Amino acid sequence: MQAEKNKVVTIDYTLKDNEGNLIDESNTGEFAYLHGANNIIPGLEKELEGKQAGDSIQVSIKPEDAYGEVDMAKIQQAPRSMFPQDVEIKPGMQFHAQTPDGQDVMVTVTAVEDDHVVIDGNHPLAGVTLNFDVTVRDVRDASAEEIEHQHVHGPGGHHHG
Ligand code: ZN
Repeated sequence: MQAEKNKVVTIDYTLKDNEGNLIDESNTGEFAYLHGANNIIPGLEKELEGKQAGDSIQVSIKPEDAYGEVDMAKIQQAPRSMFPQDVEIKPGMQFHAQTPDGQDVMVTVTAVEDDHVVIDGNHPLAGVTLNFDVTVRDVRDASAEEIEHQHVHGPGGHHHG
């Protein structure tokens, strides 16, 4: 069976940046996604199209097909007074924030100055080329419920309480 729309695909993968730093991995058959439902980045989904259990691929995916380029407009300075006074603000901390149009975004503190904090609303992997080493472990038909929910249930997927 081949990976295509409305199939549940279980993969093992190792993800590294261009410097060889490990970003993420799953090697125990615990990662499954619904093909064709935007569960994974578009560049990787395209490469997996037509693959079957036992196939391995090594692909390098540019930011435009992954988490996008870094948008400088999303890097902003905020007054220190906007943050809790009793918390020491440090680079790497993450906060929920609202954009002017009301969207909830996660921002990461990248620098702390005396009177202001530099925050970055880009995805942490924006601008990063993703180098995947992927082995397909299993491909199966999605259930009608999985297709309706647009995600995988059971092992490797969502569990509804
Ligand atoms: Zn569901």
